[in-house]
Amino acid sequence: MSLALMGAVLGLVLPAAAMSDVIDRLTLERDLDSLTETLNRRAFERMAGRRVADRRSYPLALIAFDIDNFKSINDRYGHAAGDAVLRQFAAILRAAVREKDVVARIGGEEFVLLLPGADDKFAYQIAERLRIVLESSRFNEIEATLRVTTSAGIARHRPGETVGALLARADHLLYAAKRAGRNRVVTEPSGQTWDAPELDIV
Ligand code: GH3
Ligand code: MG
Ligand code: MG
Repeated sequence: MSLALMGAVLGLVLPAAAMSDVIDRLTLERDLDSLTETLNRRAFERMAGRRVADRRSYPLALIAFDIDNFKSINDRYGHAAGDAVLRQFAAILRAAVREKDVVARIGGEEFVLLLPGADDKFAYQIAERLRIVLESSRFNEIEATLRVTTSAGIARHRPGETVGALLARADHLLYAAKRAGRNRVVTEPSGQTWDAPELDIV
C-alpha cells in the first residue's frame, strides 16, 4: 500500500494527534542517523516542536550531552573505534528513555534527550545516571583502563520558547560543565540540590 493510501485509511480511524504520530513512525527511516539509529537533528527539531506545542508535555526538560575529549579517542584508537563508542553511547541513551522521550544525535558526538513531564529533580537524576553508566562502561575497541565520560547541561523549557532557544540554553550549561572540568551535569540555578540517583543498571 502506498504511504498516501495508508495515511488516508488511517485517517478514517484515528484522531488527528494519533495520526500524526503514525506518520512520524512511517517516516522514521528518513529521520534516523545511520550510525547510531537515533533521530537526526532535523527529525529532533520536528519532534521537539511537537512536544513543545503540547501542554501535556510540561514540565519539559532538555538534556544536552557531549562526550568528553572524544577527539583523543579517535586519535589514539582510530575513527572506527570512535564510531563504536558513539554507537554504544547511543544505545545507552535509547535503553534509558521512555516512549514519550525524544533522543537524538544533533552533532558529531553531541546527543540530546527531551523529557516531557520531567521536573528538575527527575531530569537531573536521568542525566546523572547516564553520566555514571557511561563512565562505568567498558568498550571492546579501547583499553579497559580508559574511561569514556560525558558532560551534560539541562535546561527547563520556558513559556513561549522555541526549540532552538531551549537547545542554546542547554548547550550553554553543557559548556559550563566542560569549563568546570568535564564528566559532570550542570543545571539551571535553582538553589535545589538532590541526592545521587538510585542506580539499578551499573
Ligand atoms: P570536549 O571535551 O571539549 O568536547 O573535547 P572533544 O575532543 O570531544 O571535542 P572536539 O569538538 O574537539 O572533537 C570532537 C571530535 O568528534 C572531532 C571529530 O573528528 C569527531 N567526530 C565527529 N563526528 C564523528 C563521527 O561520526 N565518528 C567519529 N569517530 N568521530 C567523529
Ligand atoms: Mg562536541
Ligand atoms: Mg566532545
